Amino acid sequence: MTQTVLAIGECMVEMAPTGDGHYAMGFAGDTFNTAWYLRKLAGDDLTVSYFSAVGDDAASAQMTAFMQDAGVTPELRVIPGASVGLYMISLKDGERSFSYWRSASAARQMADGLSELPNLKAGDVAFFSGITLAILPVEGRETLLSVLAKARAKGVRIVFDPNLRPRLWASDQEMCDWIMRGAAVADIALPSFEDEATYFNDADKAATAKRYADAGVTLSIVKDGADAVLIDAAGQPQETVTPLKVTQVVDTTAAGDSFNAGFLSGLMSGQSNADAVRAGCALAAQVVGKRGALVDLD
Ligand code: ADP
Repeated sequence: MTQTVLAIGECMVEMAPTGDGHYAMGFAGDTFNTAWYLRKLAGDDLTVSYFSAVGDDAASAQMTAFMQDAGVTPELRVIPGASVGLYMISLKDGERSFSYWRSASAARQMADGLSELPNLKAGDVAFFSGITLAILPVEGRETLLSVLAKARAKGVRIVFDPNLRPRLWASDQEMCDWIMRGAAVADIALPSFEDEATYFNDADKAATAKRYADAGVTLSIVKDGADAVLIDAAGQPQETVTPLKVTQVVDTTAAGDSFNAGFLSGLMSGQSNADAVRAGCALAAQVVGKRGALVDLD
């Protein structure tokens, strides 16, 4: 029977400067980027689907069509009268900055009145992030965590990337509290050390892994940019994997998202944790060598 990875979050319209005063329209968002790359890597025996909410306007229809064209199965709630969020990239002296229009985005309503995540069975994966939690109203966060806990109880593996984005939260404390509540419903955590050290004061990667293990995860994969990834699985000796050297880092957008996709593809095909991490590093190495969130793969 085919297995499913359901990614949960917000996909946005992306406006990226083309260099001649014009903008190219695309679609991206952390958990969606992971789904998009996972679809590219995985075989036909894996269903990759995306849970979110969109509106009923033309931009929402285009986004849905984009997902379908990419082979990602849309599991989208449709909110009449709403639309999707948007961000614009600005380039100044080679530095990218981002402006967001997402406060009215339909995705904020994805968990309203939700009683169950769609089409998941034991052995499947549900993947969400700290950004997924951040964009939801408090009640939506509570509902999402409860449907994730319910899915977990029936054997769905829950994978969580904390993806700390303080600007999306009312305070750092609120962010840290909800991140650890997210961790409490997860089996696997995929944190990035630099952010975790900044907001949780972790002295080293082992401290990050221990905090997630204490919250109940059985596997932590602690990413650290170009430095070694720490693998901490319950009851096993810790391992490290050093990412491939990238001679020319062009744009680190979606480094973590693509890493997650490589890791999930390895996990779903039954690879060892270390091999799944190597697959994550290999994909991320390609992505940081090119411009944009969703790049063509070699
Ligand atoms: P995030 O984007 O979540 O902050 P990280 O910066 O920790 O994630 O990077 C995720 C992965 O991307 C790393 O584990 C590594 O495989 C790859 N990566 C990121 N930056 C570099 C780099 N400068 N050189 C090589 N690989 C990198």
